[in-house]
Amino acid sequence: FDDRDGMIWWNGSLRPWRDAKLHVLSHGLHYGSAVFEGERAYGGHIFKLRAHSERLKRSAQLLGYDIPYSVEEIDEACDAVLEANGLTDAYVRPIAWRGTEQLAVSAKLTSINLAVAVWAWPNLFGADRMKGVRLAWAAWKRPHPETAPTASKAAGLYMIGTMSKHKAEDDGFDDALMLDWRGQVAEATGANVFFVMDGALHTPTPDCFLDGITRRTVMGIARRHQIQVVERAILPDEIGRASEVFLAGTAAEVTPVRQIGDLNFTPGPITERLLRDYEALVQMSPQQVAALAA
Ligand code: PMP
Repeated sequence: FDDRDGMIWWNGSLRPWRDAKLHVLSHGLHYGSAVFEGERAYGGHIFKLRAHSERLKRSAQLLGYDIPYSVEEIDEACDAVLEANGLTDAYVRPIAWRGTEQLAVSAKLTSINLAVAVWAWPNLFGADRMKGVRLAWAAWKRPHPETAPTASKAAGLYMIGTMSKHKAEDDGFDDALMLDWRGQVAEATGANVFFVMDGALHTPTPDCFLDGITRRTVMGIARRHQIQVVERAILPDEIGRASEVFLAGTAAEVTPVRQIGDLNFTPGPITERLLRDYEALVQMSPQQVAALAA
C-alpha cells in the first residue's frame, strides 16, 4: 500500500505517497498514541466532514493531547488532499500520532503529527453486500469505559477488533459482532448495529463504543420516516426476534446482515429504505445535508 502514486497531506504540506514514511521509533507505533478518522467523499464532498474533524480533535483530547490544527484546518487538509489526488469518490483517512522525540510511557515532549490520505475504497463489504453479510460472535469484549477511552477513535482500541475480525474470517464469516464487558450487544468491528423489532429500530446505547456518525445519520433518516428509534441495552438472547438487522458505518455505509452466529435474517423493507435514503443523502451538498439536520 506504500508503493504507489498519489499525494499525502503531512503536517501542513503535500508529500508524494511513497515518501510519506515514519521513523520506526515513533511513539504512536510503540505505545498506541494514535487516533484516526474514516470519512467518505461522494461526488467531491466529504460527507459530514465537520463532524469527523471534530471527533478527531476530541479523540486526541481523550488521549491527553491536542492536535495542533483547528477543526477548520483539518477540514481544509481533507479537502486539499482529495483534490490533489484528483478523486471525487474516496475514503479519507486522517491520523494523528505522537512522534519520535521521547520513547517511553511518559511522552509529553513528543511532537503531535497529523497526516491525511485518500484512496478509492468501495464499500467495506464489497459489491455483494446487498444480500446481507454474515457475523460471528466475537470472543473479545468491548471494554468498560473506565478501562479504556472508549469514546475515542484510538488506534489502540482496534487491536481487539482486528483479532475478532480475523477469527470471524477464519471461520468463514464476514465480520464479528462484539458484546461489551456486561454481555450486552455492542457493535461490529468497524460499524454500529441496528435491529428492526416490531417495526421499530433498536440499537445499543453507545456508552462504551463509538456513537458513529453514520449511526446518528441513520437514526435521523428513520425518525423522518416516522420509524421509532429505541436506544437501549440489547442482550444477545433477544436478537432472534429481530425481523431485520443491519450495520451502519462510514466504510460499511448501510449493510444488511443475514446471519449472526446460528441465527438467520432476511434483509427487509426498513433496511432497504434506510439504505436507499442514506445513499441519496450522501450525494447531497453539505448545505442540503445541514438543512435536513436542522
Ligand atoms: N464502531 C467502530 C469500531 C468503527 O470503527 C466505526 C467506523 N468509524 C463505527 C463504529 C462507525 O462510525 P462512523 O459511522 O462514524 O464511521
